[in-house]
Amino acid sequence: MNLLPFGDLPQFAPRRFVPDPINWDRWEEISPLFDRLETKATQCATSAEFEHWLLDWSELNAALDEEGSKRYIAMTCHTDNPEAEKAYLYFVEQIEPQLKPRQFKLSEIYLAHGLRGHLAKTRYEVFDRDTQVHVELFRPENVPLETDETRLGQQYQKLSGSLTVTFCGEEKTLIQMGRYLEEPDRALRQDAWELVANRRLQEVDTFEEIFDQLVKLREQIAKNAGFPNYLEYAFRARRRFDYTPADCRAFHDAIEQEIMPVLRELQAERRRQLNLPALRPWDLAVDPLNRPPLRPFEHADHLINRTQDIFTKLDHSLADGFAKMQQFHLLDLDNRKGKAPGGYQSTLAEARLPFIFMNAVGLQRDVETMLHEAGHAFHALASQNEDLYSYRSAPIEFCEVASMSMELLGGEHLEEFYSMPEANRARRDHLEGIVKFFPWMATIDAFQHWIYSHPGHSRVERTGAWLELIERFGDAVDWTGHEAVRAHLWHRQLHLFLHPFYYVEYGIAQLGALRVWANSKLNKAKAIEDYQRALALGGSRPLPDLFGAAGCPFDFSVRTVKPLVELVRSELAKLN
Ligand SMILES: [Zn+2]
Repeated sequence: MNLLPFGDLPQFAPRRFVPDPINWDRWEEISPLFDRLETKATQCATSAEFEHWLLDWSELNAALDEEGSKRYIAMTCHTDNPEAEKAYLYFVEQIEPQLKPRQFKLSEIYLAHGLRGHLAKTRYEVFDRDTQVHVELFRPENVPLETDETRLGQQYQKLSGSLTVTFCGEEKTLIQMGRYLEEPDRALRQDAWELVANRRLQEVDTFEEIFDQLVKLREQIAKNAGFPNYLEYAFRARRRFDYTPADCRAFHDAIEQEIMPVLRELQAERRRQLNLPALRPWDLAVDPLNRPPLRPFEHADHLINRTQDIFTKLDHSLADGFAKMQQFHLLDLDNRKGKAPGGYQSTLAEARLPFIFMNAVGLQRDVETMLHEAGHAFHALASQNEDLYSYRSAPIEFCEVASMSMELLGGEHLEEFYSMPEANRARRDHLEGIVKFFPWMATIDAFQHWIYSHPGHSRVERTGAWLELIERFGDAVDWTGHEAVRAHLWHRQLHLFLHPFYYVEYGIAQLGALRVWANSKLNKAKAIEDYQRALALGGSRPLPDLFGAAGCPFDFSVRTVKPLVELVRSELAKLN
């Protein structure tokens, strides 16, 4: 039974190395392909043969990647189907761990190969340095430590997911409680907020304990790999070749200097509109004019058609790309029973086609997610002609430029969904969200810089560092009576527990997206052309080149932040 929303997809190119068909459940069929690659490497006599070998390896990687993606898509579209779950878990637990040492071996063979130095430098420099890091950081003694790290991460997720409260006589998860913060009834909002905050407070020691253990493990991992601290290890492991911890600190400073005043202005305005003496933590999500939520569409079909109209207005090749996704049933957008929550874009690496999964229920948030994920999908389509598998995807700092730019560019045409005043309200909410995000991002990032450059710190010292940061990037909110909640707010940020140092990427990308949008205000056709040209580079060039091709400086100091914040501020003023 086909559990995928799409049928057979057109082959981008016929296989020439991986057998077709192949049974991916059988390691006995997969492992000989690695044997063959190992042997073939020794037989390469010219750089053309060596490049051919790299493409064989690419083909295998793309086929494996697509198999994993299909199993994941089938599972998330049918969470109630045990076969789908079994197939996915089998691949993740039985096949993928066996791939790791084999991939590592191939990386080693590549690095030691006599023909490596003969490859064209500009073409292979990114691939080369990524492969070097792959081999350089690997330490067998870190494997069990990384398993412990994953286990602790699961404990954190399990604990966070298990927390519930009883509200209006019903048991609710903390996520379900989120919507009450949008209720016009202030007393109700306060009740809901306090209930959730107090429930989390009961677990403070458990969260701290999990985090202490994670920090200890990470310090050991860094030490084993020969780094003085985890900060430096993480920058290398996350392949941050093109920016340094000092650049991130300059970014934090720029946010403090340029964005905090705008955030405080927005909050002062919210306070006036809500007619309150002071904003409290439960006053931040409600519409300040107490209007009901926007209703952009009824059914997923409307979402698709109106989004298609937006892309037609933006650019014909974007419109064609989105139409192609419809044609091949690569959009599964409606919320229905048995679907996993959330939304994502996934690339079918062998067919070189994107797929979008969502749970649309008819809110403005869905329109934003649709535009965002479509931006990722355009990235996959734009880099389709790249034959080297690893170059068909870019580093996350640039992937999010592709998606966040589309939120802003597409946001110019929200009248496909709304009357003009409603469209302006949606645009205003979006821009306010961007302003609010930067200080939070800086807080989380600066906190990690502190944590991993102060080995052996105590919990009290950590809380002190957090409070200093939250003061620095603090908003105009009155926390009286909830000081303990404020001191542990970071416990809700999953990235700190599961993906250390992964957060500043969103800030870097948001700057790029704002620049693409600013460029489009001067010359829309050129901005979109640059955007697509940059997307087409995939991951084949370093970050500064990708940003440069899109018409954005790769810089996150005041110089870049200041004019973009001015643009946001003047746009917000127009939307009033
Ligand atoms: Zn994204």
